[in-house]
Amino acid sequence: MYVNNILELNDVSFKYEKETVVKDVSMTIEEGQFFGLVGPNGSGKSTLIKLMLGLLKPTRGSIKLFGEPVRNFKHWEDIGFVSQKANSFNSGFPATVLEVVKTGLVSKTGLFRFYNKKDREKAMQALKTVEMEAYFDYNIGELSGGQQQRVFIARALVSDPKFLILDEPTVGVDAKHVADFYQLLRKLNREEGITLLMVSHDIGTITEHASHVVCMNKTIHFHGASHEYKAFSNEDLSQLYGHPVQQLTHNHGEVENND
Ligand code: ADP
Repeated sequence: MYVNNILELNDVSFKYEKETVVKDVSMTIEEGQFFGLVGPNGSGKSTLIKLMLGLLKPTRGSIKLFGEPVRNFKHWEDIGFVSQKANSFNSGFPATVLEVVKTGLVSKTGLFRFYNKKDREKAMQALKTVEMEAYFDYNIGELSGGQQQRVFIARALVSDPKFLILDEPTVGVDAKHVADFYQLLRKLNREEGITLLMVSHDIGTITEHASHVVCMNKTIHFHGASHEYKAFSNEDLSQLYGHPVQQLTHNHGEVENND
């Protein structure tokens, strides 16, 4: 059966203990979209991602991945995840770029297996996609934050995911390489056909690159196409962030954000 919706959340709420940190969230991500999930620090973005990945159970509501309730979902190889902590290996870490990418090829049983020649080819292909093949035998710790982030995207790509979730991937990427990094994400979305969900606290930049955006602070404040979001007023944004913010345009600029 052809399923157009990659992700569906219906009225999802969640509390860790007493405090509700995600409230009545409903959203849909369709195949081919490049979705930005934005909100200030502490607004529940990471919690929402954990709910989407079945790592936390909603207190209320339902979540479907590729049309399946998340608790029954088995095709985890279709989903890639790149965490914000990925790009922080120091120079002493004893693994090459190629080795790191190959660890993305987890066996179906989740157990270690020996890699074969085909695995190497797949890993090299993934490195080529992120334009890092020339670095395959470098030690991962020798690379810059932005280069490491590309390697971790390659690691997520080796299993040919249909849906890639990135948690604040531009943290640690040198400011002058952030635009290149977004270009890579757009290439993955448009040329490789991968549906993307990127978490960010930087509204200004994400709305310039993503096709759609969800803006949350515990509940959803906006859900729709990025160009509609740009019309969202500074007043609305300030209310969301709890302090005055301004949308800047034409400069890849950031919303002024003091959190
Ligand atoms: P964001 O990713 O937007 O920064 P989080 O989802 O990490 O937000 O956090 C949302 C709220 O949930 C915050 O108030 C945070 O302190 C709280 N929180 C996050 N993780 C836990 C946890 N494991 N136990 C209790 N509270 C948590």
